[in-house]
Amino acid sequence: MYEHDVLVVGAGGAGLRAAIAAHEAGADTAIVSKLHPVRSHTGAAEGGINAALQEGDDWELHAYDTMKGSDYLADAPAVETLAQDAPEDTMRLEHWGMPFSREEDGRVSQRPFGGLSYPRTTYAGAETGHHLLHTMYEQVVKRGIQVYDEWYVMNLATTDEEDPNDRQCEGIVAYDVQSGNVEGFKANQGVILATGGPGQAFDHTTNAVSCTGDGHAMAYRAGAPLEDMEFIQFHPTSLPSTGVLISEGVRGEGGILYNNDGERFMFEYGYANNSGELASRDVVARAELDEVAEGRGVEDEYVHLDMRHLGEDRILDRLENILHLAEDFEGVDGLVEPMPVKPGQHYAMGGIEVDENGQTCIDGLYAAGECACVSVHGGNRLGGNALPELIVFGKRAGAHAAGDDLGEPEIRTGYGDDVEDDDTELPVAPGASGLDSTDAVADGGVAAETGALEQAVERERARVERLMDKDSGVQHAEIRSKLQNAMTDYVNVFRNEEGIKKALKLIRECREEYQDVYVDDPSKTFNTDLQQTIETRNLIDVAETIALGALVRNEFRGAHWRQENQVRDDENWLKHTLVSWDDGEPSIFYRPVILEGEEKTYEPKVRSY
Ligand SMILES: Cc1cc2nc3c(=O)[nH]c(=O)nc-3n(C[C@H](O)[C@H](O)[C@H](O)COP(=O)(O)OP(=O)(O)OC[C@H]3O[C@@H](n4cnc5c(N)ncnc54)[C@H](O)[C@@H]3O)c2cc1C
Repeated sequence: MYEHDVLVVGAGGAGLRAAIAAHEAGADTAIVSKLHPVRSHTGAAEGGINAALQEGDDWELHAYDTMKGSDYLADAPAVETLAQDAPEDTMRLEHWGMPFSREEDGRVSQRPFGGLSYPRTTYAGAETGHHLLHTMYEQVVKRGIQVYDEWYVMNLATTDEEDPNDRQCEGIVAYDVQSGNVEGFKANQGVILATGGPGQAFDHTTNAVSCTGDGHAMAYRAGAPLEDMEFIQFHPTSLPSTGVLISEGVRGEGGILYNNDGERFMFEYGYANNSGELASRDVVARAELDEVAEGRGVEDEYVHLDMRHLGEDRILDRLENILHLAEDFEGVDGLVEPMPVKPGQHYAMGGIEVDENGQTCIDGLYAAGECACVSVHGGNRLGGNALPELIVFGKRAGAHAAGDDLGEPEIRTGYGDDVEDDDTELPVAPGASGLDSTDAVADGGVAAETGALEQAVERERARVERLMDKDSGVQHAEIRSKLQNAMTDYVNVFRNEEGIKKALKLIRECREEYQDVYVDDPSKTFNTDLQQTIETRNLIDVAETIALGALVRNEFRGAHWRQENQVRDDENWLKHTLVSWDDGEPSIFYRPVILEGEEKTYEPKVRSY
């Protein structure tokens, strides 16, 4: 058994920042991560970090752009905190040595990004995330913060009170990838989940194979609701063959989108008459798919992104990485030809419901970064707003878990008297149906009595043993691929009731097939087959919450388009969707969005660009 004051699960931008803050607040802090920190997916971030740094810009404009970009589904207290803290937290990175790109006069450069009213995105070439990770990992090493890397966290250890709001998180259970041992980690003050996104729930994604929604699934099964899961961002410029991202920085620097007829369609067909290519991501992604549907796509699949006119010097200075990606993955030389791009799953706006201090409704359980929903992105995240979220709310979660007083949060969490229940009829009974066998026993993070951690460790050891002992059945890859295809086919950019119901049925089938899953690789060490089998179980839960949210939200807001109701319905839907795991099945409820900021209310307006 290992023991620390604060345990941070995940070593991406959010986890590293949380650990530094918890350590600075005096807590004995450790990071537990399935990857070495600098291999975390934050390293793939290309474009930059939004922060109002320059004269002429201010945090209020940043907050306004973010509320508008969210299609008025973000909570104003969180958005204002993000916009207010981002400048100082970004400059702290600079003081820690982050090599931001600079202007001739030495000032940190900032570029325009989609949906921003001011060029507010700071960057380090087109490798911002890579430098961010390395800068913060240096700080972690410098402070001597303990890192358990290549430890896969399987579940949380929480107490078992009937109401999740009364539960307490006592620690985590993790699998040592190098030895195959399953061990308990006790957290005296708090566990912070910083496990990143669930992109692997989809077939065509810009996310790494490690983005399997583990933290989402663990928190969900322990009783913390998942919020606004239907809001998935599809990035307009991913490479068609692999999903690898071509940064919005290309359009920020002046890159242009063309259809197969050589038309600059964002203007030609009036998708965004003011901002064109730099409209918000949901707007551009839908425009591209409309072009393909109208027969104006290249090879009936994608459109072209052209940056040749920017000139070799500028491209090499600011976008060199993009040249390598286009060459390596599509065999295209971006200096002499346009690059093929199409929308790909990119980001989850929703996540584990937390307040401004990163706390869930379960005492001692926190979440930060992409796995959390505070919520600053609402229905659509603006490019460049995820990285500041990592550093602002990672820092707050770490400090609060370590005992710092950050004030009373305005955002409420968990089921309470301010929520509204849902009564939608579901096409299939979702949830744990078919999971009454041994898997269900090992499934919940909730222990039966005191000694929650010891019991959780025993359950997870039994789960590994069972998966390893079984010598035939279905392999996880088969189930995962069925799940990913169901999500990409039916819960993509364009959605309708019939399709989402089909997806829910297929997800239910995956859940049932998972009862017969087995691990082929008998190795005790570095058994990726075992790890991916467990991850697939998490993906099933997360995919189901995405599809459930998409089904019940019968309106068009931000990234969530519904064929049956193609308008934003502020009268009925200015509310967050919450899905919580309630006694073996999902239950859905709603909480009103908070539009009142410190000094003003963000009245919903038509969102045009
Ligand atoms: C290609 C790409 C480019 C992007 N570019 C930008 C950009 O320019 N600007 C911007 O603002 N946003 C950008 N984003 C979004 C942003 O990069 C991510 O949202 C953000 O980096 C996520 O950080 P994180 O710390 O939450 O998670 P991650 O960086 O994904 O880290 C997750 C961590 O959790 C660990 N982990 C996960 N599960 C477990 C488990 N079960 N046990 C133990 N450890 C676990 C992993 O090992 C990892 O260390 C981009 C996203 C993508 C995909």
